[in-house]
Amino acid sequence: MGESAAVAADTPRPLDDDRRAEHFDVLIVGAGLSGIGAAYHLQTEFPAKNYAILEARNAIGGTWDLFRYPGVRSDSDMYTLGYRFRPWRDAKAIADGPSILEYIRETACEYAIDRKIRYGHRAKLAHWSSAGARWTVEVATSDDRTIRLTCNFLYICSGYYDYAEGYMPGWPGMDRFTGTIVHPQKWPEALDYKDKRVVVIGSGATAVTLVPAMADTARHVVMLQRSPTYILPLPAEDPFAHWLRGKVPARLAYTLVRWKNVLLSTYLYQKSRRRPEAMKQWILGFAKQALGPDYDFRHLSPRYNPWDQRLCLIPDADLFRAIHRGTASIVTDELDTFTETGLRLRSGQELVADIVVTATGLKVLLLGGMKLCIDGAPVNPARTMTYKGMMYSDVPNFAVSLGYTNASWTLKSDLTAEYVCRLLKHMDSHGYSVCTPRKRDPSITEQPAIGLTSGYIRRALDQLPKQGSKRPWRLHQNYALDMLEFRFAPIADGALEFTGVPRVARATS
Ligand SMILES: Cc1cc2nc3c(=O)[nH]c(=O)nc-3n(C[C@H](O)[C@H](O)[C@H](O)COP(=O)(O)OP(=O)(O)OC[C@H]3O[C@@H](n4cnc5c(N)ncnc54)[C@H](O)[C@@H]3O)c2cc1C
Repeated sequence: MGESAAVAADTPRPLDDDRRAEHFDVLIVGAGLSGIGAAYHLQTEFPAKNYAILEARNAIGGTWDLFRYPGVRSDSDMYTLGYRFRPWRDAKAIADGPSILEYIRETACEYAIDRKIRYGHRAKLAHWSSAGARWTVEVATSDDRTIRLTCNFLYICSGYYDYAEGYMPGWPGMDRFTGTIVHPQKWPEALDYKDKRVVVIGSGATAVTLVPAMADTARHVVMLQRSPTYILPLPAEDPFAHWLRGKVPARLAYTLVRWKNVLLSTYLYQKSRRRPEAMKQWILGFAKQALGPDYDFRHLSPRYNPWDQRLCLIPDADLFRAIHRGTASIVTDELDTFTETGLRLRSGQELVADIVVTATGLKVLLLGGMKLCIDGAPVNPARTMTYKGMMYSDVPNFAVSLGYTNASWTLKSDLTAEYVCRLLKHMDSHGYSVCTPRKRDPSITEQPAIGLTSGYIRRALDQLPKQGSKRPWRLHQNYALDMLEFRFAPIADGALEFTGVPRVARATS
């Protein structure tokens, strides 16, 4: 923090001209899965608090509205990607994008959260005034106005990537290619790929989703990968959920399946860390079963250990089935150059293509591109440490919703929302107006915020806040441990500093 006066020109002038600004107890930034969940918890716990959700786009749903590529779907199960408070009722555990969007819309509508969303409101800058104990948020509206809103508590639910564009490395010869190049983040609605030769560059969740989906109608789809990823098939419909149907009430069934999936994914993650060789063989076993002994399994044998990078799940082994049918294939090689008719690879091999899809990933963007200032001094998030993975050291009355990297996003964003409510309750009951995480223990050392070695994380590490070596600055990436800590650990833990004149201490948390 306290970098330079470089953003001074951007800094909103607080107080004087903000007295007329509309004021909220809480401002939520983002109307995606996290923002709608945050709003639910907030209005349920505090019916009297006023809040609004600022949404940059003119639509609800975030990720699940933005991505429109063929086959777009979740890559974790909906019993854990769904909210704890609203059961996922569809039979499909791995759900398609439109169904997830509908689930978010219905949730917002059922709890009248949709009325709190201000569409076309992009939060650009937030300035904390210690004198006023509030944030002033500068917002660009879709009709080209800039407005200011103030709030006591700022809650960022803006996801983790840049909505403007995806990551595109750029290759030689792209301009001479006579076919079509598309990025999954900007899928042309009218793109016709029937009977076309398609190459999908990439090996992550998006590539393994796109390849079988396009292979249904394309002439052939090649997945061109520089290096392999771990790919694990799982049933599209959860057999345990299927078995429970009709035997127990729907809400209980949801809780049971959710916990089964939490425990199973935690077990698989822990086993991957402790016995990587056994896990490698176990994962590969599914591919061997689906593809037969003649397949070249080097395409499915990564150089890293399971869960060094995110594992890709494929429902009902759809990718393997497309490969087995011969409508899709995997090529492991490096792209040398685009040609007029396709791609030339380092090995010299040529891939002829009518369409090339660059499934090369996302650009990580922190806080939805918002800048933060405290009393006129810009905050550099990379110099902060995350408190419980959801607040930044020395940044007052501020929380960020970020999901797990090794489990469903919503598990953590739900816990974060519950914790924010506990924190606000604690402040209300003690009459505090400000809470700020302070790292005072010198024995706590800095560590990278995220342990994954995936490209999009490596590219962004210098922007991200650090985590600490000990609780409450250390991330567990473990739902059961986080649940205990977020729900039951004392709020006043010595790391959170509370200020403001205490009115009467009416209760303890
Ligand atoms: C294709 C794809 C598939 C995925 N599948 C899974 C999965 O299966 N399981 C899983 O756990 N995770 C998955 N993820 C991660 C996914 O992003 C999360 O699961 C979840 O949707 C994130 O929700 P969110 O609300 O936090 O963020 P988002 O969905 O990104 O929503 C953020 C919202 O904030 C708005 N916003 C951003 N900046 C601003 C600003 N400055 N001002 C105002 N509004 C702003 C955006 O417009 C958007 O509406 C997937 C991601 C992608 C891209």
